[in-house]
Amino acid sequence: MKIGVPTEIKPDEYRVGLTPGAVRDYVAAGHRVLVQTGAGHGIGADDATYVAAGAEIVADAAAIFAAADMVVKVKEPQPREWAMLREGQILFTYLHLAPDPEQLDGLLASGCSAIAYETVTDRTGGLPLLAPMSEVAGRLSIEAAGAALKRHAGGRGLLLGGVPGVAPARVVVLGGGVVGTHAARMAVGLGAEVTIVDRSIPRLRQLDELFGGRVRTRVSGIAAIEEEVAAADAVIGAVLVVGAAAPRLVTRDMLKLMKPRAVLVDVAIDQGGCFETSHATTHADPTYEVDGIIHYCVANMPGSVPLTSSHALVNATLPYGLALANHGLDALATDPGLMAGLNVHRGRLTNAPVGESLGRAW
Ligand code: NAD
Repeated sequence: MKIGVPTEIKPDEYRVGLTPGAVRDYVAAGHRVLVQTGAGHGIGADDATYVAAGAEIVADAAAIFAAADMVVKVKEPQPREWAMLREGQILFTYLHLAPDPEQLDGLLASGCSAIAYETVTDRTGGLPLLAPMSEVAGRLSIEAAGAALKRHAGGRGLLLGGVPGVAPARVVVLGGGVVGTHAARMAVGLGAEVTIVDRSIPRLRQLDELFGGRVRTRVSGIAAIEEEVAAADAVIGAVLVVGAAAPRLVTRDMLKLMKPRAVLVDVAIDQGGCFETSHATTHADPTYEVDGIIHYCVANMPGSVPLTSSHALVNATLPYGLALANHGLDALATDPGLMAGLNVHRGRLTNAPVGESLGRAW
């Protein structure tokens, strides 16, 4: 199979779909890998490194999309990329379609088969291709909260961990999954006072054990969220209902209850966001203010640490990508978890939560 790796074009996105190490595995399995010139720039891998790994360097994205049987990317395709996808081609990347009907229409029109990293499941029902980026984003979310809390950045002027004799910041994490756990780990490590809110009591039990009582846990509900948000200095939005648009847990009215200049970090913004007042921002201009509350809503947080993120992502995607390269779409028939990743196939939507979120047939 011919595998195409275009340069990512989303603003401030420096990750790459395949590292040179992964190219070696595809080539060893008998595949051709076409890499757009400069695609590895963000991770310090130049064209010569890709050539040494067995890749062929191609001048532009159009040539990659025209030649590849499977396109391997990181972020959802942008409008000029939808236009280059074609019938029979496999697209293997993050899609986050639930909040993005325009992209869905672009993919449907292309006739391609699009497999979304974020809806591939494993035997335990986990999300093996979302998890590595959730680990990264969870850890970054506390760095983002700490930066936004600084006074010159518009925040309350508070140090997350405080100092002896001065109370630390209160960090509330909504959603105790992968993002939430890694956010809590960083916040606890810095000395903040941390509460995790989740709708799953079994998950809260696990977290209580994991953190040895070092975090408070609360069951999600309107009253609990209202109380926690009112007392918080920073709130991390980390909820997920797989494939679906994020539930809007913090309403605009709740902002009035919050401390002035407190910070909201909406990691779930890639699924539409879990704060009513969220809209996606970029690394270049990551925050904005609504009713005196600082919002950070960067949809591709791991893109800012591409070295860590590209390797973590490719570690997870490689076995699935190789299965697709070796067997084409037949790989889906033998792996129901990979089948769960198929969101669009030859002009049809094939993912129920996306259909339900957008009111479309699937
Ligand atoms: P996860 O499935 O591991 O965890 C989600 C948690 O949310 C679960 O524990 C679930 O019980 C909980 N939850 C669901 N509904 C809830 C509710 N109403 N109240 C409280 N808790 C609720 O998911 P994850 O991997 O941690 O991902 C979380 C979000 O972060 C996703 O939207 C994901 O796409 C996003 N994400 C964003 C970036 C970024 O750059 N912005 C990067 C990685 C992941």
